[in-house]
Formats: sequence, structure tokens, C-alpha cells
Amino acid sequence: IVEIKGMNKYFGKLHVLKNIDLTVEPGEVVVIIGASGSGKSTLIRCVNGLEEFESGKLVVDGHALAPRGGNQKALAEIRKEVGMVFQQFNLFPHLTVRENIMLAPMKVKDTPKTVANATAERLLNRVGIGNQADKYPSQLSGGQQQRVAIARALAMEPRLMLFDEPTSALDPEMIGEVLDVMRELARDGMTMMVVTHEMGFAREVADRVIYVHEGQIVEQGKPDQVFDNPQNERTQAFLSRVL
Ligand code: ATP
Ligand code: MG
Repeated sequence: IVEIKGMNKYFGKLHVLKNIDLTVEPGEVVVIIGASGSGKSTLIRCVNGLEEFESGKLVVDGHALAPRGGNQKALAEIRKEVGMVFQQFNLFPHLTVRENIMLAPMKVKDTPKTVANATAERLLNRVGIGNQADKYPSQLSGGQQQRVAIARALAMEPRLMLFDEPTSALDPEMIGEVLDVMRELARDGMTMMVVTHEMGFAREVADRVIYVHEGQIVEQGKPDQVFDNPQNERTQAFLSRVL
């Protein structure tokens, strides 16, 4: 569902992504790990066109993005099909939880209000906060807000979900409830690319773990392989710091 070949990305002179080759199969859960500044966020932001890249190939669900923001039509399609959840929940503060979830389907897909409302309620139940629909984001805990953000992304019926450190801004006691929702999503067959420092989650849920070092994928494999028997010395050094 995702095909990246020889992708390079610069911020000015800084070569942030170097010759990235990465294929993600439908239903696969790929966890991306690496040190701060290694390019993890930039990589997944490229996948839904939040960042432009300078060279290489990027195809998402059959839509090919061109370098330097070319092919705006593909970009629009990709935005419809890819959901993203950020570290900061980015909910609309002036809208209720229900309205936050109804907004994009009604605006982007012309979903009728009654249908959008029913979807919102179904998704809120799915993420375990069916009783919070008419509150404002500021009235919810961080963990609840992040679950709303996940429900909001799911309302667009994405073919791929991107997560960029979804639990890093949460108090420790709320991390589990968000990871539980993600675990269930994975179990239901959602294709996911997840940047996280939650190594337990990576080990348990990932089909594949990718280690990024200074803009390059230097190691990837099944979680057991990468965590228990890393081949690259950079990966070994990183894991010895975080595990
Ligand atoms: P972290 O774990 O801290 O989130 P990361 O692996 O997600 O790090 P990125 O945010 O992708 O790293 O950043 C990769 C590099 O690109 C860093 O050196 C960062 O300073 C730089 N960078 C990121 N965004 C920009 C930007 N908008 N303009 C210029 N440089 C940027
Ligand atoms: Mg980041």
C-alpha cells in the first residue's frame, strides 16, 4: 500500500532522508524507531504529503506523489485515504468531541450529517469514550483526547494510519489506554506506520521494526530479530540506551 524508492529529502542543506526504500503491505504494522532528529517524523510526514521530498518515488495506495509537491491530485487523494495522529492531539478546541469527528467526513466526503453523527458515536464507543461526545476537548484527559484524535482519523475510513509518537505527550497512566486502542486497530487489520518509543508495544504489535539513523534505514526486521539480535552496531547502541 506504500512504496518508497530512493527517496531523498532536504531541509535547506540538511539531508534529512537519504535514499529511503520502504514498502508497506496492506494490513502490516510497521514501527519506526531511532534517535531524536534521525528523521522519523519527516519520513511519515512525507507519506501523507505533509512534507515534500526532493527526489525518488512515493506511491500510496496507487497514487504517485511527485518530488517537490508535484501531482496535487494524487496529494488530495492521499490526504483522504491516510489518517494521521500526532503527539499533540490537534483537536479543534471550539468544537465538541462529536463535532471534531463529524467535520472532515462532512466537508471532504459530503457525508450527510446523520450518517456522520452515527459514525462518530460508533467510533467513540470503539475507542471507549462513547459517553464523552458532547464535551469539549479541554474537558477531557490527555488519553481521552488522543482517543478522540484516533476516532477522528478513523471517521475518514483511512486505508493507512500514521502515528507520530502518539503517547509521548501523555501522563504515564494514560499511555496504556491509547496503546490498547492502537493494538485493537492493528488486530482489526489496519495498516499502520507508527513512530514510538514504546518498545513493549513495538515488540508485541509490530510486524516489522525499522531503525532509522541519520536519515537512513540501517536495520529492519521482525521485532524479535531487531530487539534481541540487532545486526547493525548503531542499532545495538541505540537499543542499549533505550531498552
Ligand atoms: P524526534 O524523535 O525528536 O521527534 P525525528 O526523528 O522525528 O526526531 P525529524 O523531526 O524528522 O526527527 O527531524 C529530522 C531532522 O530534520 C532534524 O535534524 C530536524 O532538526 C530537521 N528538521 C525537521 N523539521 C524541520 C523543518 N521544518 N525545517 C528545518 N529542519 C527541520
Ligand atoms: Mg519526531
